[in-house]
This record gives sequence, structure tokens and C-alpha cells, in this order.
Amino acid sequence: MPSRHIVRPSGHFRPGDTGVSVMGHASSRGSDVMQLYPLFADLTNRPVLVVGGGDVAARKASMLLRAGAKVTVGAPMLGPELRELAQQGRVTFRAGAYQSDWLDGVWLVIAATRSRPLNARVAADGHLQQRLVNVVDDPALSSFQVPAVIDRSPLLVAISSSGTAPVLARRLRERIESLIDPALGSLLQLAQRYRTRIRARYADLAARRRFYDWLHDGPVNALLRASNPVRAERQLLAALSGDQEPKTRGSVALVGAGPGDPGLLTLRALRALNEADVILHDELIGPQVLDLARRDAVRIAVGKRGGGMHTAQETIHALLLEHAQAGRRVVRLKGGDPFVFGRGGEELEFLRSHGIAYEVVPGITAALACAAYSGVPLTHRDYAQSVRLVTAHCQQSFNTLDWEELARERQTLAVYMAVSKIDELTRQLLAHGRAPSTPFALIENGTLPDQRTLTGVLDDLPALAAHHAIHAPALLILGEVAALADTSHWYGELLDISLRHPAIANALADAA
Ligand code: SAH
Repeated sequence: MPSRHIVRPSGHFRPGDTGVSVMGHASSRGSDVMQLYPLFADLTNRPVLVVGGGDVAARKASMLLRAGAKVTVGAPMLGPELRELAQQGRVTFRAGAYQSDWLDGVWLVIAATRSRPLNARVAADGHLQQRLVNVVDDPALSSFQVPAVIDRSPLLVAISSSGTAPVLARRLRERIESLIDPALGSLLQLAQRYRTRIRARYADLAARRRFYDWLHDGPVNALLRASNPVRAERQLLAALSGDQEPKTRGSVALVGAGPGDPGLLTLRALRALNEADVILHDELIGPQVLDLARRDAVRIAVGKRGGGMHTAQETIHALLLEHAQAGRRVVRLKGGDPFVFGRGGEELEFLRSHGIAYEVVPGITAALACAAYSGVPLTHRDYAQSVRLVTAHCQQSFNTLDWEELARERQTLAVYMAVSKIDELTRQLLAHGRAPSTPFALIENGTLPDQRTLTGVLDDLPALAAHHAIHAPALLILGEVAALADTSHWYGELLDISLRHPAIANALADAA
């Protein structure tokens, strides 16, 4: 058993040698020793052999085909996938029992049969003939390992645990994969195509480095991320034919951080946080989210505390401008989604009018998040054909709401910033004809560990909210669907049901 974990250089392979345990083996070689030599092989048009006809062999053959190798598959018979590849002429099929002469002229061999003795025979023959040998999931028999790969060709990231724990290597791969923007592959393709011209234009190494930095941090990559390959290439060409070295200019990403649970960030938001030099974040955004940003990024809390709302917004604009103009990558991190009651539109307009490059990363808005985390479907075939996102935060917006419309049946209201206006909101809805028995769910600190969900009927809403001292941030869901929270709720605390009884609520209201 221990021999399965030993990684030996091919020259040392002796069939049947099972003597040394991995720990002793590895430690005796010291920590400065690499167990494997990393290697990216050009297999274009080179003959390779896969022994085995099943699913695993098919996977290996496909990857070799992607790398342009001339693949021969040897097996008594083929499974459906390989059979198809053989019929299409993409792999050559050698039918029959394994013969050592299958190895003639091949660069490398992968043994992927179910029989360990057969795999061992293939490996022994391969080692003898000095072929590179991989036996799937069997490092002891192999002279090379196939790493877990992130393929953004021409960019390749390969991860290996030296055969000790392929599953962990794959996990790591998933994590790294999420950090690499898919557009990076296109950027490298572009760089590859213009490599000679870039070298010619920037013969000096330091200048060339600066150019590649610009390529990555500047408008070319931004245009690729914004799905504009034609304009990206034009930018690159313009930079190559200009007399001046292009300068990296700053940019702003308006990023939605979601409602609080860091698991609800998008991959794109995570990447933006990883690349930011400066993060201007709303006060409400918690440390779990901010901790995901680059360690040395400057974090600046901006928001509604201190001074009037208007002044604060101007200050935010000024800060955005200052840092972007200094050439920094700025993330403006906002709770939920930047375009839902987040003044993202104003910030975007400001950036546009000052010629600052920007992108927008949507986030999960509080209504969607709170609904999901309290088990309330916002629309429902039987109860609600539409949903409205409403805010009730200031008197002016409050007075201009169309109450007739809002009080209509068969729709769901998701009310932002409702806490301080609960009494008036309830009064208006009742006055305009929404039934007193309309269910509500009021979700405080949605998606955070201290989420509390209060349910009841509209008539009791003010008294219940006051009794439970519901504080901002809280989101109100009103409509038939809200009743489903009582049965479908799954996250955080559902407030004590006895206090939701109308009679008790009335008594509470009287007492208040
Ligand atoms: N842009 C944000 C909304 C900003 S307005 C978004 O898309 O979600 C701020 C209001 O959002 C709060 O008053 C509250 O009503 C709601 N909100 C934000 N985060 C919340 C959370 N974690 N739980 C409940 N409500 C939240």
C-alpha cells in the first residue's frame, strides 16, 4: 500500500519494488527537493499512446487531442466516446490485447486500464524504452503526472500535488479558476499576435514591462472584459503606433457586494476586489466581504454617516475622481446591487462626464436575497404575477408614491428602507384598499448570521415591528407570498409565532 504514494524518477523504476514509504522517502530527500520537474510539453503532431478503452482513457485522449497530439488508443474494444472519436478519424484504434511494440515511436504513454498488473506492464515497458509514462491515479508506476489545469489558452495554470492528493489539487484549481478572468485568454492571444511588433517598438526591457502592465491594467483588457475585442485591438494598435508610451489611467468599477453574506458575491466582484488599489465602500459592508479584497488595498468607508446625504455624495464623487485620476484601480463597493436604490446611476454619470473608464458589476439586491433567505418566492403562479421594488426612505419620495397602484392585489411589494416609515406605510396601504389580512415578512439583517424574520398580517405590522424592535437594514415583503415564510423559512430566526396572533398584537398596540 505505501508504495502507491511513492514518486520515483523514471530511471529508478523497478517493477515489483514496493519497499519505501512516502513519508520516509520524501523527508529523506529534504524540503529543498522538488518531487517532480514541472514541464509543459509541445505534443503537436507527436505520436502518443493511450492504453485502455473506457471513460478514463477517453478523457485522457480528449485532452491529448486538444494539445494537438497524434493519439493512438489501444484496447480490446472501445467505449462509446472513444468509438466515436475513432469513427471520426480523430484517434487511431489499435484493437486487441496490449503488445509492447505499441510503444514503438511514441513520445509518451498513458495507461488507463482497470487492471493494475496490465498498467504495471505498460509502465515497465515504457520505462525500459525511456518513454514518459503516466498510469492514471498511480504515481508509484508513473514517471510523469498530469496536473489539474486551468485552461485560458494560451495561458495555462497547472497544479500538482506530486500525485499525493489529486483531489486537493483539483479543489485548489477551482479556487484559482474563479480568480482568473476569462478575458485573460483573449488578452494573451492578442499579446501573442503582436509580440514581434511590441518587441520592435519597445526594445528596452523596462519600457516593454511598462507596456505589458498597461496592456493588463489599461483599456485593452477593460475592453476585452467588456466584450469588445475589435475596439481592444484598435487600442493596442493605436498605442503601438503612437509616439508616446501609453500611460495607465485609473478606472472605477462600480461593484455590487450583495446583501452581506460573502458567499453571495459574484466571481466578477471577487476579481475586482482582488485587483483594486482603492476600495470606497458603503458603511454597511461587513468585514467578511472586505476581507476578500487585496491585503494592501486602501479601504475607505463612505456613506451616510455624518453630514447630509448630499454632501456625502459629493465627497464620494470627489474621492472617485481623485483616485482614478492618480492612475489607481478603484472599486466603488455598494451594498446589494449598485443600480437598485444605490445612487449608482449618479456615480456612473459623474464618471462618464469626467472621462473616467468604468465598469459595473451587478450584485444580489436585498429584495432577492431576503426573499430567498426567508423562503418567500417573490412571484407565484397562484398569488402574485408581479413584484415591485419600492423605497420609502424620505418624505418626498414617500409622498410621490402611487398608493392606488401599490395597494393592488396579486402583486408583491418589496419595500427598501421601510423601518422608519412603517406606520405611515401601513396606514396608506390600508387607506387605499389593501386588505388588512395581507401577509407580510419583515427581514432584518438578511443573509447575515443575525438575520431575524418577522411575519404577520398588514394590520399588525407597526405593532409587531415595534414590539420586536426591528432595526435597519430591514426589508419588507408584502403580499400573499409572504405567508410562505412561516413554512418555508430556513435561515436565521423566525420570530416567536405566539406574538403574531392578532389579539396579542392588538393588546400590544393598546399598551403602547
Ligand atoms: N443597493 C441596495 C439597497 C440600498 S438601500 C440593494 O440593492 O440591496 C438600503 C436598504 O436596503 C436598507 O434600508 C434595507 O431596506 C435594504 N437592505 C440592504 N441590505 C439588507 C439586508 N442585509 N437585510 C435587509 N435589508 C437590507
